Amino acid sequence: MVRGEKQEARSEIKKISILGATGSIGQQTLSVIRQHPDKFKITALAAQKNVEALAVAAREFRPRFVAVDDITLYPELKKALADVDVEIAGGRAAVMEAAHREADICVAAIVGIAGLEPTLAAIERGRTVALANKEALVCAGPLMLQAAQKSGAKILPVDSEHNAIFQVMENHNRAAVRKIILTASGGPFRAWDKNKIQNATREDALRHPNWSMGEKITIDSATLMNKGLEFIEAHYLFAMPPEQIEILVHPQSIIHSMVEYADGSVLAQLGPPDMRVPIAYCLGYPQRIATAAKPLNFAEIKSLSFEEPDVDKFPALNLTRAALAAGGAAPTIMNTANEIAVAAFLAGKITFGRITEIIDAALQRVENAPIKNLAELFAADAAARRASEEMI
Ligand code: NAD
Ligand code: MG
Repeated sequence: MVRGEKQEARSEIKKISILGATGSIGQQTLSVIRQHPDKFKITALAAQKNVEALAVAAREFRPRFVAVDDITLYPELKKALADVDVEIAGGRAAVMEAAHREADICVAAIVGIAGLEPTLAAIERGRTVALANKEALVCAGPLMLQAAQKSGAKILPVDSEHNAIFQVMENHNRAAVRKIILTASGGPFRAWDKNKIQNATREDALRHPNWSMGEKITIDSATLMNKGLEFIEAHYLFAMPPEQIEILVHPQSIIHSMVEYADGSVLAQLGPPDMRVPIAYCLGYPQRIATAAKPLNFAEIKSLSFEEPDVDKFPALNLTRAALAAGGAAPTIMNTANEIAVAAFLAGKITFGRITEIIDAALQRVENAPIKNLAELFAADAAARRASEEMI
């Protein structure tokens, strides 16, 4: 009955934990899971402070454990779920506990370096990690990969570009990869002139042409810092030297990235610009599962276009290349300065043009030292935080 056994194994329910359950990726993960109640069971949910969304999700999906990072909101969450059989906890330790909880797949969807420790904890436990939290990998790539090697954890990329590359990377042909072509939409300011971009408003910057996402990544997409972070992400995930990673602007966001092989073949993954597609790929892996994403209609799309990124208009691209080349603490310094500057821009404290100026200045001011552990990494983070806040 080999065949029957196989089918049984296939229908086994996967246990899922979600860190950052209330965000854009977290909610789209819930949407994919909602479509497949026979395939997934949620074990733990964690978020920063959106008690309402956490309570709604807990009520619907009945996890064993729910964590809210902001401990002052613990009583509110407890009250909202008083009639639900679920363990509730608050504070940073609770988020870490959610990362430790049993799961076949931990979806790492916290935004920023705040997600690093919980994501690393899930890796150390040997979980398969569906990684959306690119900032964690940018800051701690070598530490995360070492931990994964030690524990046997698998990292599956949720980020659409990396998910595309993962799908078309022929593992038996790794040596024949000539380069990775990371596609970029170009963001809302692709066709703006340089001076106008400097003073773009919050509203302008939050109007992404193709994707609906959290605020921080939407601003990153407007500065192209998102593509810079993804460049570093690709370097670590696919062990690709920087000179073999090309960034190509593709405004329609239909081709999510490509791999060029030595024989001249280029394999691409295409799909609607809908994060449920890469999320479903990670959750179902190695099987493909259905999503409600609107299928592509090529006759309607008509044409796909490509152009070189403008590094003069978007200095973030060169900053990230330089930070990766410098190594050590530089990617952390760059990432933290970006997080502080983006928050300040969203709060109306600085102009759009200042974001990349602050990152550049932080990289020059903060001493770059080797990073051998998390303590050293967080020291660099703190120094970059101070330097960036001073400039704001
Ligand atoms: P978001 O702002 O919509 O959501 C962020 C989530 O993180 C929320 O659930 C929030 O509660 C949680 N969070 C923040 N700080 C926390 C803390 N200290 N402890 C616990 N939870 C905390 O962001 P998003 O757009 O969903 O992005 C999440 C991550 O996924 C980012 O790293 C982003 O770069 C990446 N990503 C997002 C998209 C997208 O389409 N949204 C695409 C690719 C990659
Ligand atoms: Mg992406």
